[in-house]
Amino acid sequence: IPTTFRPPTITVDDIFISVKTTKRYHKSRLSVILKTWFQLAKEQTWFFTDSDDKDLHNKTHGHVINTKCPASHHRKALCCKMSVEFDAFMDTNKKWFCHFDDDNYVNVPRLVEFLKDYNPKEDWYLGKPSIQRAFEISSKNKTAPKVKFWFGTGGAGVCISRALALKMMPAAGGGQFMRTGEKIRLPDDVTMGYIIEHLLKKPLTVVNQFHSHLEPMKFIRRELLKDQISFSYSSNNIIKLEGFDILRDPTRFLSLHCLLFPYFDFCPR
Ligand code: UDP
Ligand code: MN
Repeated sequence: IPTTFRPPTITVDDIFISVKTTKRYHKSRLSVILKTWFQLAKEQTWFFTDSDDKDLHNKTHGHVINTKCPASHHRKALCCKMSVEFDAFMDTNKKWFCHFDDDNYVNVPRLVEFLKDYNPKEDWYLGKPSIQRAFEISSKNKTAPKVKFWFGTGGAGVCISRALALKMMPAAGGGQFMRTGEKIRLPDDVTMGYIIEHLLKKPLTVVNQFHSHLEPMKFIRRELLKDQISFSYSSNNIIKLEGFDILRDPTRFLSLHCLLFPYFDFCPR
């Protein structure tokens, strides 16, 4: 094919990966991430937290951003972090912004392969909804048109192309994301959907290979694990996979990582 007709190809370096975390999860949740998938995207992944942590700073080679947002699970604090994540992405020249939670495992090479099918110069909002129907904002005014939109669950991972992010600037840039979230009084991922689907009228593209712990992990078939882009866990909801002892690997992320990348030094051989 002549070069001019070739679709734009990307590498991991074209992706800005943000991970939302908080002080009390630095050890409990980030350890397994740092041992596994972070190693495949060290230069591209940034942790957004709410405190200074020398140890985390050293382990990530400075890839920690203290957002100065409150250390709380309240929607305000979460929108505050997303606001900082968005602005940090805009400060780079990366083609894609992908957000994950600190209880996600990201299959980095799969994410890169997947994004190759989409043009970052077009508007793309890629994610996985966690509800069966569009989200609806209730209004006291019964004659007002209903505000209805889809959103990608933050805990499954969400990717946004730079072209779309640029269009989001008035509602999301320079700290505006927080103010938009405050206006509609909804969490960060819902606010994202509101800005993109409702304000900009750009549809969410459903990515079935993203997984949050709102869906049962045990139903992902072993043969299909390698094709998935993100995974998660919660108590009583983990990937069904043989490997390390459950006490050593309660999240199953070590076992998953060894299935995908058996050459890692902690994997059995
Ligand atoms: N989180 C946070 N501040 C908090 C609690 C949670 O930033 O005080 C982050 C957490 O690190 C994770 C995300 O919010 O990335 C979702 O939190 P969690 O998984 O605990 O709850 P969920 O919303 O998934 O039930
Ligand atoms: Mn979670």
